[in-house]
Amino acid sequence: MNLKGKTAIITGSNSGIGLGVARELAKAGADVVLNSYTDNDEDHALAKEISDQTGTKARYIQADLSNGDKARGLVEEAGRCDILINNAGIQHVAPIEEFPAAKWDAIIAIMLSSAFHTAAVALPMMREAGWGRVINIASAHGLTASPYKSAYVSAKHGVVGMTKVIALETAEEPITANAICPGYVMTPLVESQIPDTMEQYGMDRETAIREVLLKRQPSKEFATTEQLGGVAQFLCSDAAAQITGTTISVDGGWTAL
Ligand code: NAD
Repeated sequence: MNLKGKTAIITGSNSGIGLGVARELAKAGADVVLNSYTDNDEDHALAKEISDQTGTKARYIQADLSNGDKARGLVEEAGRCDILINNAGIQHVAPIEEFPAAKWDAIIAIMLSSAFHTAAVALPMMREAGWGRVINIASAHGLTASPYKSAYVSAKHGVVGMTKVIALETAEEPITANAICPGYVMTPLVESQIPDTMEQYGMDRETAIREVLLKRQPSKEFATTEQLGGVAQFLCSDAAAQITGTTISVDGGWTAL
C-alpha cells in the first residue's frame, strides 16, 4: 500500500472514524486534509501530530458542511483531491411527529448534501489526475432502519444511492466510488448516546452497551476506527480497482441477520 503523492480529504475528521481513517491513510503515505466546523488549536494540532508521526503533509481546513458552498469551498481550498472520504455526521433520535424540522435539515445537509457538493468539485480533480477514490462512510442504517432515526436512516440510504450513481458516472474511468457501512464503532457520537440509553432503560453502562447498543451487532463487539481505516486503505489499493458502486459492511454481522 503506497499512497505517496495522493491527497485525501476526510470530512468530519477531528474525532472518531474520520480521524481514524485519516491516520491510517497517512500511515500509507497520503497527504491528508482534516476537517470539521470548529477552528481550534486542537484541530490544527491533530494535523501537526499526523505530519510528525508519518512524515506526510497533513493540514486542517475548517468548513461547516451544513452549508453547500462551504462544502465545495473545502475541496477548492485543498486544491487537490485523489481520495475523498465523506464522513461528517450527526445524529438525532425522536419519533417523526416530534422530530424538529431544523434537525432533519441539518442531518440531510451534513451527511447527504455535503457528499454531493464535495464530489461535484473533487471528481474533475480526480479526472485530471487520472485516478480517484470516493469513499462514503454510510452505516448499517444505510441498509436497514431503526425507529426514531428518520433523518439519519434517510440520509444514509441516500448516501448509498448516490455512491452507486457516482460509480456509474465514473465506471469507464480509473475512479471508483464505494460506501463503507459500519455497525457500532465506539466514538464520541456513540459515547454521547450512552447516558440517555442508561436512563431510558434504567441500566448500568455495561448492560446498556451490551443489551441495547450492541443488541443488533451479532459479534457483540465494537468495530475500531483503525479497522475502518484499514478498509479505506483496501479500497484505495490496486486490488480494489474493480470494486465500485458497492457497500462494504463492517458491522459484526448486523446486516446478515
Ligand atoms: P464523531 O462525532 O466522532 O465524528 C463526526 C465528525 O463530523 C466530527 O469530526 C464532527 O466534528 C464532524 N461534523 C459534525 N457536524 C459537522 C459540520 N456541520 N461540518 C463539518 N463537520 C461536522 O462520530 P463518528 O461515529 O466518528 O461518525 C463519523 C461517521 O460515521 C458519521 O457519518 C456517522 O454517521 C458514521 N457512522 C458511525 C457509526 C458509529 O457507531 N460510530 C456507525 C455507523 C456510521
